[in-house]
Amino acid sequence: MRPPSVDALARELVDVGLPHPLLVDAAREAIAAGDPASARARAEAIARALLRPVINATGVLLHTNLGRAPIEHHQEARYANLELDLATGKRGSRSRHAASLLARASGAEAALVVNNGAAAVMLVLAALARNRSVVVSRGELVEIGGGFRVPEVMAESGAHLVEVGTTNRTRRRDYEQAVADTDPTPALVLKVHQSNYRIVGFTEAVSVAALADLGPPVVADVGSGLLDATTPWLETGPPAWLSDEPAVRQTLQQGAALVTFSGDKLLGGPQAGVVAGRAELVKRCARHPLARALRPGSLVLSALQETALAYLRRDGDAIAFWRMAATPLQALRQRAEALAQEVGTDAEVVECEATPGGGSVPGLTMASVGVAVAGDHTAALRSADTPVVARVHEGRTVLDLRTIDPGADTLVAKALSGITA
Ligand SMILES: *Cc1c(COP(=O)(O)O)cnc(C)c1O
Repeated sequence: MRPPSVDALARELVDVGLPHPLLVDAAREAIAAGDPASARARAEAIARALLRPVINATGVLLHTNLGRAPIEHHQEARYANLELDLATGKRGSRSRHAASLLARASGAEAALVVNNGAAAVMLVLAALARNRSVVVSRGELVEIGGGFRVPEVMAESGAHLVEVGTTNRTRRRDYEQAVADTDPTPALVLKVHQSNYRIVGFTEAVSVAALADLGPPVVADVGSGLLDATTPWLETGPPAWLSDEPAVRQTLQQGAALVTFSGDKLLGGPQAGVVAGRAELVKRCARHPLARALRPGSLVLSALQETALAYLRRDGDAIAFWRMAATPLQALRQRAEALAQEVGTDAEVVECEATPGGGSVPGLTMASVGVAVAGDHTAALRSADTPVVARVHEGRTVLDLRTIDPGADTLVAKALSGITA
């Protein structure tokens, strides 16, 4: 029997909902593999690889593979006053909206938004320290997430690394010595939050406050973007799991000249990077050619503006990350019970522990409640119409309610009932 023509086979797949050229790809691959019947599965695989909403049942609030902080954003096709000053009709600045609100919310003189935290560090080093020295503690030459390695970012930026101290202990004297011995004087002292790991035991590090009067401006890469250690946007005050996570406002108060952080970790906004601090230094970063290459567009800036306005209103409920993190256990338990009841006898309500994730506050967890069913059903859950991402613990599939939006409970119940039936 002759194989079907690529075109005829592709036309049989229209209901998969992909544009014709992608259906042709699926059909061609299937025929080339000598298995025309696999064309539909191939087309469906292409469709499933596209970006789509998923339900995060992992209990990891900032799940890097799921886009870190969940954000809400709706917009029609429209123009925006991205770089237009509506008062004068003249060219305006991209820093007038999200960036200036974030500066206001964190007590910084000025701020600048770029594409991610790594870009923020890169830009600061390139703009303020190219061909000059930057002093960093050996305990802070870290790798964070996929491939953000401080020494490599430093080398790429054109700044020269001056290492001080040891992996576990660095003292103020080490910094003093490095500043005195380096000629010409270092451009910056860089403090990098260790974010995703901890050195415990015989350790010593120098605070930003203790370095503020050393001479060179202190740049602190705080990473997570916790805006204020006192969390005024939460009625219940700072949660225990925040521990001693460095915060933007307090780091600036301690004397950092600039602070860099991500938009989509504890800040709870879209993927972005922020440079905040002294106006004169922020301006030098904004004028550097790299700033043009690293700038986000109006979609990101408007989502970030929403996030910043929520902080200024002290409305943690309007920021999905904080709403999930602050949900009382009792509310989670009620939802878990309703869910388990709907799924039937196979499902059991269990106590579990959620984590902030995103490389923030390693090792710290928040109490949570989940629904567990025997066996590993993670693959089946991922193949649901709205994929559900869950984890397996001691032979059971556990769905943590803390990271599931209450509006998705019905979908989760449906997906779970489907696999246990
Ligand atoms: C996460 C993190 C970064 C990288 O930020 P991205 O937004 O992932 O690029 C840099 N520095 C620190 C300390 C971090 O925690």
